[in-house]
Amino acid sequence: MYVDISISEEDVQLIMGSRFRRAYPQALQSAHCPHCRKVDDATVIVEQLWLNPAGDILAQGNCARCGHSIEKFIETGIDPQQYDQAMAIREYKIEVSKDYKVRGGKN
Ligand SMILES: [Zn+2]
Repeated sequence: MYVDISISEEDVQLIMGSRFRRAYPQALQSAHCPHCRKVDDATVIVEQLWLNPAGDILAQGNCARCGHSIEKFIETGIDPQQYDQAMAIREYKIEVSKDYKVRGGKN
């Protein structure tokens, strides 16, 4: 399934492991807002978290400054450990729990 599936913040914590406490808030505070047009210092007020097929996390939400909808890509899939954890979560959700939303995908 080449789609993004919805995940929770607990899932993000599982994927990022010890990096979560520092790297997660850091990522959310360094988003790019096309409306504010400043350097990448926008803060994402997260509405939904997604996990893509490559094991990367996408934080979808709104810019804390202007409210414009923005998204932050968190490149977790490049790290083997985080990738494996992300794949385990994808597999579990898709095969077992079936408790997730889907977006995107190649048709
Ligand atoms: Zn903004």
